[in-house]
Amino acid sequence: VSLSAVKVCEIFASIQGEGLRVGEPSVFLRLSGCNLKCVMCDTRYSWNEGKELSYDEILERIASFGLKSVVITGGEPLLQRKSLLGLVKLLNENGFTLSIETNGTIADEPAVEVCKLMELVTISPKITSFSGKVLHLNTVCKLLEELKNRVCLKWPILSREDFEVVAELVEDMDVGGDVPVVVQPAFVPGESFDDYLERVRLLWKAAPEVFRKRRLSFRFIPQLHRLVFFDIERGV
Ligand code: SF4
Repeated sequence: VSLSAVKVCEIFASIQGEGLRVGEPSVFLRLSGCNLKCVMCDTRYSWNEGKELSYDEILERIASFGLKSVVITGGEPLLQRKSLLGLVKLLNENGFTLSIETNGTIADEPAVEVCKLMELVTISPKITSFSGKVLHLNTVCKLLEELKNRVCLKWPILSREDFEVVAELVEDMDVGGDVPVVVQPAFVPGESFDDYLERVRLLWKAAPEVFRKRRLSFRFIPQLHRLVFFDIERGV
């Protein structure tokens, strides 16, 4: 990928279904490639699919939707941090409000530079039950340190045990009340709508106890777009 082009999986308009900005109409710029390959990933097609697009092509397609909010996601968008920087500057110059969603595994200087041009950086670390891999928190903590006031943590969980694991991690990280923390019952690829809803209900009921026990501040936000479009994999 050249420095004035980015490998893009898809660009579409939808409503933000996750995290702090849930409900906000936004354009989604989904970049190709991911360095984690989680067992529970619901956007596997983004790992390899994609086409190199020039900054101008991307700008034109984003502008065509007539929305101000742009969410840069993936895959893992910071894999392309060097070529992404110029695009982010261009989108900012054109008046778009930017946010990015990252798995928190990349925290070098170019990654931080891209993140500092965002209004909101959502770091979504993946615990072992979700990713199938051990979670290393050092890069997440570095990003939190660098990106004060424009960052939130979003944790996908599958079970009550996951909920407890996340609560313990957040407690250990000692982010205090400064960083908003979202726990997100994740959709398991292939599961039925009823099964997802049932898990969300169980986790919802467990939430007050987990919150109280740890005296931590969380927001509990299911994946709204999965509830609405549970049978549609892409473009939502
Ligand atoms: S980090 Fe996100 S995009 Fe990458 S494999 Fe995991 S869930 Fe999928």
